[in-house]
Amino acid sequence: MLKAVLFDMDGVLFDSMKNHAEAWYQTLCEHYGFVCDRIHFYLYEGSTGAQTIDALFREQRGRHATDYEIETIYAEKSNCFTQLGPAEPMPGAGDVLRKVGEKRLTRVLVTGSGQATLINKLSLAYPGVFTPDHIVSAKDCPIGQGKPHPYPYLMGLKKAGNILPTEAIVVENAPMGVQAGHAAGVFTIGVNTGPLDPQVLKEAGADLVLGSMSELAERFDGIVEQFFDLH
Ligand code: CA
Repeated sequence: MLKAVLFDMDGVLFDSMKNHAEAWYQTLCEHYGFVCDRIHFYLYEGSTGAQTIDALFREQRGRHATDYEIETIYAEKSNCFTQLGPAEPMPGAGDVLRKVGEKRLTRVLVTGSGQATLINKLSLAYPGVFTPDHIVSAKDCPIGQGKPHPYPYLMGLKKAGNILPTEAIVVENAPMGVQAGHAAGVFTIGVNTGPLDPQVLKEAGADLVLGSMSELAERFDGIVEQFFDLH
């Protein structure tokens, strides 16, 4: 029986990935001299800031980033992201959240983000939808166990009321997030809101790939009927 829907945040509930990619690019490439293009950061999407920084150090400097480097670079990236201005809610996301609420399913947020303003941002865009005990963020996640590791979604199932993987749906937009949902054993919908080829989400293990949150809102009832028993 379906009991909960676990939502990723950036690129699913907020149209924020463009700003994240830009902030990473300005910080890591323009300031710290790493070499890659903005699209590269969409492939890291879903992992924590610490993992993204460490991955680039390993790829391009042949060593792990130190704690100090992770802390200073992440602070600079967060500052840059804030300066780029607030991200808009993703079109259609409010409709999806409403449909999920109407079916009396628990709505849980599962994000790799560690933004201090996260709860404020959520309650402004989606008032009353996510209670603090239904949020999994970077703070809940041990180093090295962010997406694509299943840990964040397993924690999401726990916070949804200790439910089984078969009693939930994951909604994700990034390959690593889809991998995390799939590895947690949850039916995972990949919503391709960014510049990547939809095939990338399929290959990451998505059970279903859709083109937008509006499409998910339109098809949500049918998907639940087709794949789940509500009784
Ligand atoms: Ca995302």
